[in-house]
Amino acid sequence: MLDMTVIAATGQVLPERPFVGRHLIGGAWVAGSSTFDRVSPAHGVVVSCSALGTAADAEAAIAAARAAFDSGVWSRVTGKARAAALLRVADLIEANVERIALLETLESGKPISQSRGEVSGAADLWRYAASLARNITGDSHNTLGADMLGVILKEPIGVVSVITPWNFPFWILSQKLPFALAAGCTCVVKPSEMTPSSTVMMGELLIEAGLPAGVVNIVLGEGQPVGAVLASHPDVDMVTFTGSTAVGKAISVAASATLKKVALELGGKNPQVIFPDADLDSAADAVTFGIYFNAGECCNSGSRVLVHEDIAEAFVAKVTALSRQVAFGDPLHADTQVGAIISLAHQGKIDGYVRDAVAAGATVALGGGPLNVPGLAGQFYQPTVVSGVTADMAIARDEVFGPVLACLTFRTLDEAVALANDAAYGLSAGVWSENVHTCLEFARRVQAGTIWTNTWMDGFPEMTFGGFKQSGQGREIGRYGLEEFLEVKTVAMRIGRTRPNWVKTR
Ligand code: NAD
Repeated sequence: MLDMTVIAATGQVLPERPFVGRHLIGGAWVAGSSTFDRVSPAHGVVVSCSALGTAADAEAAIAAARAAFDSGVWSRVTGKARAAALLRVADLIEANVERIALLETLESGKPISQSRGEVSGAADLWRYAASLARNITGDSHNTLGADMLGVILKEPIGVVSVITPWNFPFWILSQKLPFALAAGCTCVVKPSEMTPSSTVMMGELLIEAGLPAGVVNIVLGEGQPVGAVLASHPDVDMVTFTGSTAVGKAISVAASATLKKVALELGGKNPQVIFPDADLDSAADAVTFGIYFNAGECCNSGSRVLVHEDIAEAFVAKVTALSRQVAFGDPLHADTQVGAIISLAHQGKIDGYVRDAVAAGATVALGGGPLNVPGLAGQFYQPTVVSGVTADMAIARDEVFGPVLACLTFRTLDEAVALANDAAYGLSAGVWSENVHTCLEFARRVQAGTIWTNTWMDGFPEMTFGGFKQSGQGREIGRYGLEEFLEVKTVAMRIGRTRPNWVKTR
């Protein structure tokens, strides 16, 4: 018998019929010529049936977004009008939390409590973006001479392709879409083929909120051809993408032919660094949360813990003991903290990293294999702690994207910084110490877009997010998140007839 906390199937009756998803193009729902099914990763049954987009669907959606943008129906209305629409969307999201959360859980396998938190939290992103819609300002230059006034204007960049992953479908959409809309852009959205339905539900809410036709279009389907068309089409001005580093690079290449702007939120191999003077109980809890939240299928997963060697053994034992108490199992049970793995193929990849680490000399302190959840046909992975990991192992360098913690040790702050920075990624990092100087020095020296000191994964709509190095380019949420969707225009204005003629008239 496994010494872990497993929540068996609740036996809850799933919706009788799969959710039917269609494209949203120019304000109309479009069924598409063929469909694809999504099987719940926890329950093993079909939970949605979606239109399978073609290149022609993607082109039609881009044409609708282009026409809507150029008409000025959204790009040239007041910030007040845009803010009012975004606030209506926020209210509608809150009124629909249960519906959206259920489908999010059925398609992604994440716990229902987490889906509810994600959907209701997304409403706050829409509210924050609404506040920015009324606050788009440039600069003025009043020191260019008595006869000259300079103004720097901010304008919406244009048509934006929004391509999202499967791990936080509704949340990540809400990190992008309301900010693009606040700026005055029009959009074509492509959700992951694993989790299309909450984006379709968002489309329903946008219509209900009164957004003009064509301002937001949705095309369902695969990266090829839909995503590829969205990344390369000449009528698209910008692509904002969240997903894997490999696909992010492909999108950059596709977008380069027309030099469109690209914003990328990619992977991470995020270290949490534990100094001996830290509040070790709190740190152990945060490390446990950081690795198991969303089954580790999280760009911000704290998948590397770097522990001072004096406390390493005791700290890993603490995390291992806590790991046994984390409730893994049926995502529809209110107490479940960790649900299913997104696909069997992905589960095999996670397991491969653990096996390779063991072959390279690491030790499995806990877990290390698939988890059987009584009554459920889907795939789950055990909470897994791997100790004795060294920086050269794949488990220390690659994004495992599963509930697998890699434990490494260090002796000095310099060594901790070097280990933390020894990665292709630079998304986030954490430091645990009661000494403020240690925390600040680490925060300044580590190469990462977000640093948490004595906490992990706290986030706010106000606090911008993004990666260093191969974790991405550009920023999301916060004021910087809005700026990504704005183009800058300089207007130089002469006051009076003071411009000297260039042509010397004879
Ligand atoms: P993925 O890169 O496989 O897919 C992401 C999206 O891109 C999907 O909609 C997919 O259909 C589409 N796509 C695939 N090929 C494409 C192509 N050639 N052109 C255009 N679009 C294409 O990623 P995933 O497996 O869905 O998500 C997991 C990854 O996302 C992880 O690497 C994770 O770290 C990353 N992620 C990053 C953040 C962040 O903010 N940094 C957040 C969440 C997830």
